Amino acid sequence: MKLYKLLFYIFGLLLIFENFSCSKDKKLLSSTENKVSPNDFLSSNTYDFLIVEIQYVSGYEPTAACVDNLKTLLQQRINKNAGISVIQNTISSPGKSLYSLNDIKQIENSHRTQHTSGKTLTAYFLFFDGDYSENSGNAKVLGITYAKTSVAIFEKTIKAFSGGITQPSNANLESTVVNHEFGHLLGLVNNGTSMKASHQDIPNGSHCNDKNCLMYFNAETSDVIANIIGGVPSLDAQCIDDLRANGGK
Ligand SMILES: [Zn+2]
Ligand SMILES: [Zn+2]
Repeated sequence: MKLYKLLFYIFGLLLIFENFSCSKDKKLLSSTENKVSPNDFLSSNTYDFLIVEIQYVSGYEPTAACVDNLKTLLQQRINKNAGISVIQNTISSPGKSLYSLNDIKQIENSHRTQHTSGKTLTAYFLFFDGDYSENSGNAKVLGITYAKTSVAIFEKTIKAFSGGITQPSNANLESTVVNHEFGHLLGLVNNGTSMKASHQDIPNGSHCNDKNCLMYFNAETSDVIANIIGGVPSLDAQCIDDLRANGGK
């Protein structure tokens, strides 16, 4: 169990970094994507079709289960009358072992193929073959939401902390990170989607205070460890209420 505690201590730290990154980032890639709000994801008012583009460095693609779990989350929680589509494509390795936020934005600029226009909203996930450059000590970042439609996943780092005999499955750890990051695109918690009732874990940023929730930020309790080992956490009722009040379902 010691290893699990280390893992989730690490996982907890990634969420702190992710929020710093998110709040500091004002230079977004496209003016259209810059204007996208959580309500645009949740409702069909402005955009009735969603394309999630998943781009990955060869060999670092998400598991099929991770992609299925993301689709399930989106189909359960967002209103897109014309549908939701997930497309995947590969890029060659940018050739780094560490990726900075600036690197990530430049790679997105060069490679992203889907952009928001008309009634079609797009989100972009990029899976890397390296670690985040801001890692320090034992703190390993697994994912960052760095713009209003953009997420980076450090798949190499995820692989290092999953799939072993004493580790969670690769699919479960990927899914937890990917779904959690999409929760931030949807404005959780209290970050673009306001709260119906108070449940923000304020000391830990835009996170939920329900330890069983997908949007929980936790350092090292065994309850959270058990949750992720047992499967991918779901959103709790309070996070779902918030999404419903902002156009979701
Ligand atoms: Zn988070
Ligand atoms: Zn919650």
